[in-house]
Amino acid sequence: MTTGRNAPRRLSIFGSTGSIGQNTLDVVKHLGGRDNFEISVLTGNENIELLAGQARTAGAKLAVTASESHYGPLKSALAGSGISVAAGQSGLMEAADRDADWVMAAIVGTAGLAPTLAAARRGADIALANKECLVSAGGLFVDSVRRGGGKLLPVDSEHNAIFQVLEENQRHAVERVILTASGGPFRNATVEEMAGVTVETARAHPNWSMGLKISIDSASMFNKALEMIEARHLFGLSPEQIEVIVHPQSVIHSMVGYTDGSVLAQLGAPDMRTAIGYALSHPLRPNLPIERLDFAKLARLDFEAPDESRFPALRLARLAMTRGGVQGAVLNAAKEVALEAFIAGRLSFLSMAEVTETVMDQLSGLPPAATMDDVFAVDKEARQRAAGLIN
Ligand code: NDP
Repeated sequence: MTTGRNAPRRLSIFGSTGSIGQNTLDVVKHLGGRDNFEISVLTGNENIELLAGQARTAGAKLAVTASESHYGPLKSALAGSGISVAAGQSGLMEAADRDADWVMAAIVGTAGLAPTLAAARRGADIALANKECLVSAGGLFVDSVRRGGGKLLPVDSEHNAIFQVLEENQRHAVERVILTASGGPFRNATVEEMAGVTVETARAHPNWSMGLKISIDSASMFNKALEMIEARHLFGLSPEQIEVIVHPQSVIHSMVGYTDGSVLAQLGAPDMRTAIGYALSHPLRPNLPIERLDFAKLARLDFEAPDESRFPALRLARLAMTRGGVQGAVLNAAKEVALEAFIAGRLSFLSMAEVTETVMDQLSGLPPAATMDDVFAVDKEARQRAAGLIN
């Protein structure tokens, strides 16, 4: 989609109060702010003070809280500003319908799926941070973006790295992609140590500063599992073409291996603003105040094979890809329920994978999803089963 020659680009940020959302607003500020961009919609959930402040600063047309009960406080916080306010699922769908050429999809979890899909169908370019959209809806989601006519711009740092080094006219020569993983806080922990970890230790990522859920998913390597499935759908790969390598420094964000033996990598400081800036400026590169790599100080880059016995999430991703059908949606939904139970102190760290695998096995005979309603039905069923196992 294009706006008039001199008109500012219209952006919406779904999940603006989160880690990715705040980084997106920072990138927008560095790239000219209101001189170059018009903010159509900002959405959040519970952090109303921050959402209202962002909306006022950015001059958003609409601010949406996904939580009905936070409508009143948001309305009060924006009184007199001229900014429209909406709430709940209908508010998110209104956000998706509002004119924006580029939408940052950074709501955490499956809650992000419906509004992102609606914006894609409307034809917006989708900067996709929410990996759950692809893991759950896979090909259906990619088809919706394609039919809508917008671009699908990967924001997850690994997929953004692949997007940067994947030569469009050499797709036939892609042999494999290699997703790098930091290994998280338990890279060297024993199974016994991992059995007793708490939310506080699990959320302490060694390199990246991220939201709570993705930080814990990184510690269990469920984040990497979701990324494997995400890569499959984004780049049209077979499960065998997707490798994972542990790279503790998080300097190489991912690599593409070609049939001539060449491997192209994207390197940079662990700062999500690089990926967000690339998704916003594509195909150009923006000028951003990101820390520059100093190779002399870095001195070395380490690599090691992931240990799938301590991190079964990786095996479950392969299982989901091999089984196909709706197994990605099942894995994602069961994992989300297990993760919430871990955060609430009702499930141990290692049991998250056990619950997920059990639900995947229980639902392994389901047919592929023909529509998004099928995806939502599977998501619901998997959640109920996971909750039943935990309670
Ligand atoms: P955060 O937890 O920091 O932020 C989540 C955002 O979603 C917030 O705006 C939050 O609102 C909102 N939200 C929470 N629950 C709901 C709901 N039920 N309905 C609608 N909105 C809701 O997450 P991150 O920014 O870390 O991650 C966002 C997405 O990007 C995730 O899918 C994650 O996997 C992905 N991602 C994140 C990376 C990172 O570096 N952080 C890297 C790569 C991908 P509020 O805060 O107001 O409650």
